[in-house]
Amino acid sequence: MSSAKKNIPFKPYIQNQLHLLPPSLDQLIAENHPVRVVNDVIEKLDIDSLLKSYKGGGTTSYHPRMLLKVLVYSYLSNIYSSRKMEQGLKENIHLMWLSGMSQPDHNTINRFRTERLKGVIKKVFSEIVLLLVGSGHISLKEAYTDGTKIEANANKYTFIWGNAIKTSKERIVKQLEELWAHGQKVAHEELKDTTPITFEEISAEKVKATVDQIQQAIADKPVDKKVKQKLKYASKHWPENLEKYQQQSELLEGRNSASKTDPQATFMRMKEDHMKNGQLKPGYNLQLSTNNQYITCYSLHQCSTDYPAFIPHFEEFETLYGMLPDTVTADAGYGSEQNYQYLHNKGIEGYVKYNYFEQEQKGKRKAAAFHHSSLYYNKEKNTFTCPMGQTMNFIGERKRTTDNGFIQTYQKYQAQNCNNCPLRSSCHTQKGNRIIEVNHTLEQYKEIARANLLSEKGIAHRKQRVKDTEPVFANIKQNKNFRRFNLRGLLKVEIEAGLIAIAHNLKKMAA
Ligand code: SF4
Repeated sequence: MSSAKKNIPFKPYIQNQLHLLPPSLDQLIAENHPVRVVNDVIEKLDIDSLLKSYKGGGTTSYHPRMLLKVLVYSYLSNIYSSRKMEQGLKENIHLMWLSGMSQPDHNTINRFRTERLKGVIKKVFSEIVLLLVGSGHISLKEAYTDGTKIEANANKYTFIWGNAIKTSKERIVKQLEELWAHGQKVAHEELKDTTPITFEEISAEKVKATVDQIQQAIADKPVDKKVKQKLKYASKHWPENLEKYQQQSELLEGRNSASKTDPQATFMRMKEDHMKNGQLKPGYNLQLSTNNQYITCYSLHQCSTDYPAFIPHFEEFETLYGMLPDTVTADAGYGSEQNYQYLHNKGIEGYVKYNYFEQEQKGKRKAAAFHHSSLYYNKEKNTFTCPMGQTMNFIGERKRTTDNGFIQTYQKYQAQNCNNCPLRSSCHTQKGNRIIEVNHTLEQYKEIARANLLSEKGIAHRKQRVKDTEPVFANIKQNKNFRRFNLRGLLKVEIEAGLIAIAHNLKKMAA
């Protein structure tokens, strides 16, 4: 029997049915849909700072409040490309409803995102956070802080390495010294009063002048053909290369790496899979503070480790809200002397782990018998006692500057006589009597941190940190699939970070 003869009841399908009163877009959107939260919240915002960026006059502009709603809702819906937003404004009823059927093109959307939101996005973000505080969703008094690296919109194969520049410059200096030495041999009189340049003073002009000087001095002397060829090569390429190195060093801005396609991105090891296998890629370090799984502060950094970002992140927090949190909980990546000092000076209760805190707790890190932490310290006399019972006297201090420019002070103590000591081979490998270096300030901060972390409150904060910050990163990277910035340059990438933070908060609010 053919299927055409079956009596199958279908629902009516009249594609071109006319409606007496066509439904409005508003009727088609569910009451509790996140797009309504985006609309309601952005409707309440004071956007004066955004309006100020418009000069006035000329042709009409799309309303910034509408464009802001479109951008935030797009980021909330995992739409990050301005072309897809343009398309969505023609096809997606939520975007069409938000825009009131306006259809700005991708250039307009992108210009608004990169130019109008510059310097304004943080204000918009903080206003939304303050609304959340006002409604009791979150508190600014407790911050749970962590960082993640997000890939830049840059080619990972076009890089600039600070070390490679240094090595190339060193090679030029070395070869120039050899050429100079050779020149002096054959033209002693002409080159006797001067010396070649050193690494510190190397520049395109100086190298060119030195090579010219050697060439002139040996011009009429019998010199090996290879030397003349080398000088010719040096004169042609070295000044040009040094100029290139100079420009690249300026792009590095003190970092060791940068990408040529986004010079403000730094090469960082990104965790690629659950085994934490990583790849070196250009990226930015995104720092977040959260409360109740809402983002309360975000900041972007060019450092590949977390500890240098800690203070700038909380300075940002203070700028946004005119206050600092009462407590900060963070993992061991932030436990540096400088950060502990900051917490202490600002009166913030810190629950910040230091390196080896976890190992200590699991009993995996027992202080080695000869390590200074195992030696008896007499605070009054400021002396240590070595394993053989000798007094180790204070002999001075050593200053150490961290990569971050922070100066640490180490106190030095020395044993009186290590000769013929039976423990010497286990104790130390130094030439004379053993010297130990101890940073008492850091040790004290660690003691405070240990006591805080092991207190009842500390244990609760540590548990909360795992439940608070990590789901936020998981949401951004897994659910929102935001693993790579779409824009280039620190300022523009900061705008994207702001949009993603706002989108995260509003989505959570709508949930
Ligand atoms: S080697 Fe020197 S510092 Fe070490 S235990 Fe012997 S005396 Fe003390």
